[in-house]
Amino acid sequence: MYLKEIEILGFKSFADKTVITLDNDVTCVVGPNGSGKSNVVDAIRWVLGEQSVKSLRGDNSMSDFIFSGSKNRNPLNVASVMLTFDNSDHYVNMPYNEISVKRRLYRNGENEYFINGEKVRLKDVTELFLDTGIGKSSFSIIGQGDIGKIFSSSNLERRSILEEAAGILKYKTRREEALRKLDKTDDNIERINDIIGELEQRVEPLRIQSEK
Ligand code: ATP
Repeated sequence: MYLKEIEILGFKSFADKTVITLDNDVTCVVGPNGSGKSNVVDAIRWVLGEQSVKSLRGDNSMSDFIFSGSKNRNPLNVASVMLTFDNSDHYVNMPYNEISVKRRLYRNGENEYFINGEKVRLKDVTELFLDTGIGKSSFSIIGQGDIGKIFSSSNLERRSILEEAAGILKYKTRREEALRKLDKTDDNIERINDIIGELEQRVEPLRIQSEK
């Protein structure tokens, strides 16, 4: 599986529809300081579901990420980013040779996600990439300063990096969910036992009454 295309329109400095085609070789994007190279990385994180304005280098809100206009161009009202993955090896367990993930944001704050053109929830996008190493916080995207962060992270944080890489995070999440459900079931059993206890006290007097 590999990322084969990035399509950006209206996101940050990308006023025009921009398509970056990637192949199996190394692709470099070059340009002077401030020309928008890091915006490409932000776009990838954003489409994968990043919710933190700060980590995408925005000031206040998500609408900071919609093209805000320039000397010669009016602002836009919508931003969209689409990633297309080659899945011909079926690394992601879906019956498609190509998987596209798209996020769209309107100035009124409305936010949409699509997988292969079908409207989905953020949760679906997150689950699609869980344990593939492609998640928004996984280490397939290494930004400026991230290497330092890996080395200076706490043992616990580093453990979760290794777990994601080893592909067990999905099972850990499911285990936690199952344990939560078990706890809830235990509570319910306790409540039922209380009710049974109460009802049992009433059985004997009722039996006597019914005999009378
Ligand atoms: P550096 O070399 O310093 O890392 P860079 O080439 O990675 O820079 P970025 O930091 O990605 O550049 O680009 C920032 C540019 O994006 C700035 O020029 C900024 O004005 C522009 N920009 C960010 N958000 C918007 C927006 N909403 N509308 C228009 N332009 C934007």
